[in-house]
Formats: sequence, C-alpha cells, structure tokens
Amino acid sequence: MAGIGKYSSVDEFMDYVRKKNPAQEEFHQAVEEVIESIWGFMEENPIYFGENILERLVEPERVIMFRVPWRDDNNNIHVNRGFRVEFNSAIGPYKGGLRFHPSVNLGGLKFLGFEQTFKNSLTSLPMGGGKGGSDFDPKGKSDNEIMNFCQSFMQELYRHIGPNTDVPAGDIGVGGKEIGYLFGMYKKLRNEFTGVLTGKGINWGGSLIRPEATGFGAIYFVKEMLSMMNEDIAGKVISVSGFGNVAWGAVLKATQLGAKVVTLSGPDGYIYDPDGVKGKKIDYMLELRATNNDIVEPYAKKYDVDFFPGKRPWERDVDIAIPSAIQNELNGEDAQNLIDNDVTLVAEASNMGCTKEAVDLFHENEIPFGPGKAVNAGGVAVSGLEMSQNSMKLNWTEEEVDEKLHNIMKNIHKTCVEHGKDGDYTNYVKGANIGGFIKVADSMIDQGVV
Ligand code: GLU
Repeated sequence: MAGIGKYSSVDEFMDYVRKKNPAQEEFHQAVEEVIESIWGFMEENPIYFGENILERLVEPERVIMFRVPWRDDNNNIHVNRGFRVEFNSAIGPYKGGLRFHPSVNLGGLKFLGFEQTFKNSLTSLPMGGGKGGSDFDPKGKSDNEIMNFCQSFMQELYRHIGPNTDVPAGDIGVGGKEIGYLFGMYKKLRNEFTGVLTGKGINWGGSLIRPEATGFGAIYFVKEMLSMMNEDIAGKVISVSGFGNVAWGAVLKATQLGAKVVTLSGPDGYIYDPDGVKGKKIDYMLELRATNNDIVEPYAKKYDVDFFPGKRPWERDVDIAIPSAIQNELNGEDAQNLIDNDVTLVAEASNMGCTKEAVDLFHENEIPFGPGKAVNAGGVAVSGLEMSQNSMKLNWTEEEVDEKLHNIMKNIHKTCVEHGKDGDYTNYVKGANIGGFIKVADSMIDQGVV
C-alpha cells in the first residue's frame, strides 16, 4: 500500500530529510532506521500521515548553539562550541545527556536527540528528548581546566534549562565530576537548588545506582533476549568495547551473573583478557577513565594480557557482543566476523553503535540484535527516577532503584517483542521504534499543531 499524504515511500521522505539537513549523515542514518521501521505501521494507521507527524518529528523543537570561551592552566584562551538540541517535549521536559568530545557537531547531536526521544518514550517515564554537549576534548585536561570549561558552558546553558524544562545529564566525556561543576554553576546563577541535572553526587540529590544504570540495564535486557532463546547469561563469553561508564556497568553486572567479559577497548585498540575482566580489574576501569588519557593499553601492561593496537574487539570468537563506546563502532565487516564466529546475540549499549550495513547483516542472519535505544535506556530511566526522587524530596534505597530499573528493562523488552515479533524471530529495531513512536506521536496529535 502506498503512503498517504505528502510522501509515497520511505525514500521520498528521506530525500526531504537529506535536502533539509545537508551533510548530517548520522542524523540521516538515525532517521532512516526509524522511518523504515514505522512505515508499515503508519500505513495501517493513516492518521499519522494525515497529521504530517513525520515532518514534525524530524524537526527539533529548538536548537541552541553558543560560544564557550575558557582559560587553560597557562592562561591561554580557547573557544569551543556549545549546543543543546531540544528535540521533542510531547511527553515531558527535554531529557538527555551532554557529550564532550572533539567529534561533537550539530548533525551528531541531532541524531542523538532524535534517538533519545524514542528511547525516553520506551522507558514509560515522562521525559521528552534532548541532547547537548561540546566539541571540547577532555583528553589531557587538568581538573582545573575541566572546571573552567564546565563553568563557562553553564554560564550560557543555564538560561535554557530547568527542572521542568530541560534536564541534561552525562554522556561521553561527562561523568560525575563534570555534572558537579555544571550543577555548582547553575545553582550559583539561579540561586536555587533543584533537580536540573541528573547523575548528581549522592550527597547532593543524586540517585543510587545511576552510575551503574546504563550497563546494568543493558545486561538485564540481554538476559531477557536470552530467555526468549531459552538461554542464560551464566557461562557466556562476552566482548565489550569501550572502558567508560557504560562498559564498566555492563562488565560489573555480567560478571556478577556468571558471564565472562574478555575484551575492553579504547581509541588506541583493544585488550584481550582470557580470564575475564573481574574483581579488582573492574575497579581499575574507573582508575583508567579518571586519568583522562582515553587509552586502554595500560590495562594490558598492568594485568599482563595481550593488546591489539588499532584493532576492534569484534574479531574475537564470543557468544555475545556488546558495543559500549560510540556510534558506528561496529561495521559490516565486524558483523560478518561475529556471524562467522557463531555469535548468539548482539546488543548495543552505545547509541547507534552499529552501522546500517551491520544491522542489516544481523537481521538477514536472524541474529537477535538489540538496538541502543532499547538496550541502553536504563541510564536515562534511572535519571527519570532521580528526577522523581528530587521532586518528592526523598531518596530510594539501592534495592528499590535496582528493582524499578529491572522492571523497566523487562517492560521495554516486552514492548519490543510486541511490536517486533516476526515469526520466530524478533526484530528489536522495529519493535523499539514502533513502541517508542506511538506514545510520542499520539501525544503530539493530542496537543495540536504546536
Ligand atoms: N546519555 C545517556 C543516554 O544516552 C543518559 C541520558 C540521561 O540520563 O539523561 O541515554
């Protein structure tokens, strides 16, 4: 059946998106994946075409771009670019992380803000989608320089955010330390103590389990995927990429549940630890991160394991692969390697960790594949729980938060299966996209053309 309304096919709509957003390839990639998934559903429910939901959905409600000047320790002045993409507020205040990384640009943040809208909807918590950050590179910077940068960044951002408007959090390059500096400056400028950021320190409004949440949630989701295959995570061999917050949480939970994680990676290459990353080695990941050098090789030296410079961990023979670093970190060739090695399942803990070619290969070969917006939604879900605790001015225990996180991940899995089941195979990409879309699109329709 042909599309109803302005566009008769996915390609036609994508032409519109490409022309309107030139040179934003990652944004095109994220949009195309969603539109391909929901097109059939929209044809069955033509109201969405009539309401022109697609054009409205791919246009951010607001984009803020600003200058961030700051001084380094030698008194040199630098200028970075700051962004906040307030993508969609149909179901709640804009919510999503801040990324500090040299690759940050407008197109990248639009892809992330778009993804976040669907991810947040999947959590079933009242959060809209947003994303922000800067092309600032934390690598090699002193604490003082990072504080100067964060303070300058917030001196502009504070006027655009608020606990009922837009609630940023961390992402690549932004952890507890940076959130502290950002929160301190926000509080000073506004003279108010509110839950304007999540990922806060435990003494000043943070939630227990927030640091672990993305990785724990990813493993809870993997467990659900495995249970569909009548399999358990105990005894499974896993390759993880990255070594930051997301990878850390995933390694911790996977190991607690009896699996063995044999790889970690950084921009410099990957380490292979046949005994598994466990015990003190997991704590060492935090130390490695805190050095701000963004390299994983010191792990190999410290624990006397092999390091493969310039390589990615997907060449290893494992049961499960969990990309946990950055977008498009696993391509078609990597996917083919994993398939040749009989991988059981792949779950993205990073946002859009796999290229389109890789995802298509997993689907063709019927390898269960969990997309980032479902698998890694535990991070923002616990951010949502942090917001609830802040509003109620109380703190839940570790057990309470973990249980809520676990239930949210189970429900996201259920939603994916409900909308993505195709015979014996579940297309989690389709399931997550349709599941995330319905609530946002229906809310937009309810609220009129605004
Ligand atoms: N940056 C994380 C994400 O990609 C967390 C966002 C948040 O907690 O608001 O979902």
